[in-house]
Amino acid sequence: MKDFTYTALPSRVVFGPGKLATVADEVAAIGATRALVLCTPQQRAQAEQVAALLGDRLAGIHDGAEMHVPIESARKARTLARDLDADCAVAVGGGSTIGLGKAIALDSALPIIAIPTTYAGSEMTPVYGITENGIKTTGKDVRVLPKSVIYDPELTCSLPVGMSLVSGMNAIAHAAEGLYAKDGNPVMSLIAEEGIRALAAGMPVLRDNPEDVAARSQCLYGAWLCGTVLGHVGMALHHKLCHTLGGSFNLPHAETHTIILPHALAYNSPAVPDAMSRIARAIGADDGPTGLYALAGQLGVPTALRDLGVAETELDRACDIALSNPYWNPRTIDAAPLRGLLQRAWEGAAPRP
Ligand code: NAD
Repeated sequence: MKDFTYTALPSRVVFGPGKLATVADEVAAIGATRALVLCTPQQRAQAEQVAALLGDRLAGIHDGAEMHVPIESARKARTLARDLDADCAVAVGGGSTIGLGKAIALDSALPIIAIPTTYAGSEMTPVYGITENGIKTTGKDVRVLPKSVIYDPELTCSLPVGMSLVSGMNAIAHAAEGLYAKDGNPVMSLIAEEGIRALAAGMPVLRDNPEDVAARSQCLYGAWLCGTVLGHVGMALHHKLCHTLGGSFNLPHAETHTIILPHALAYNSPAVPDAMSRIARAIGADDGPTGLYALAGQLGVPTALRDLGVAETELDRACDIALSNPYWNPRTIDAAPLRGLLQRAWEGAAPRP
């Protein structure tokens, strides 16, 4: 076993169908009395449900959350929180809405209660991202970590099935890279393997019956575990590649993760065979990367970058961008195999080490 240092992040989780009803208790437990509820315009109805449950602990609703947290939207929300004299934010939604809560907390240390409705995992991390002049800057600050997280699987039933499945694959990506993280540890590896197992078991059921609360619970449980891994250890090739591709070609976040994952894992597989065995075991396959590629095929999620509108002629540029910003990875990142990875991901071909 390799040496490790493990620092656990503080975390409080309330999990279960119907647990949204505890939101006023969670607000009271952190000593807050005036909660600002955050959401996107699309999730206004869920935010109103939260607002009704908060009763006299409600300061207001702000439905201005947007993808990638533009600085203007962060400033607007910060001003509103101050004007309303809010003493906590309740973010109900996916990574974009929780990201808006984090942007407020970064500025004012306002405590956040997160109610995640996707599988992205932001609620378990101290990582924030803000976009200014088209460039997304990310950073780490423990003040943005939610004080309490309510996971209510019933709230995820309204997430369209296609979005649910790519969001689940996005979550698996956090755990898969956590299994070979430079700063990994045995506790995170246990959590990662169980997170992958839960999502891989839940997603096929969810695909056929999106309102199956047991399957939704499995997936949200898996998302919690995968998000925990993302919050504790560093990521590598897969996440960096998705970040550069997403930013440079304006690609949808979860779909990009879904397509790249089997290929990035196949690239790294010769360097980290133990991690690959654990992924394979978690999904009940002989091989991790090809097993995940087969799972994607079974779920009917996107498997080719060309289907996201990337032109084949842009792959050389994508490769150059990915190589221009070096970072740690278990296998050295070289131009020729990376270009091959991108080609296969573009075509939707099977992954190859
Ligand atoms: P999202 O938050 O952008 O949500 C996508 C859309 O789905 C939104 O319109 C939202 O309102 C809607 N939606 C969400 N849940 C719904 C539900 N249950 N029913 C109906 N509609 C619903 O998507 P996401 O994938 O959760 O988050 C992606 C963003 O989060 C990216 O910007 C990513 O960078 C960020 N992220 C950050 C971290 C972190 O640690 N900071 C981690 C993961 C993701």
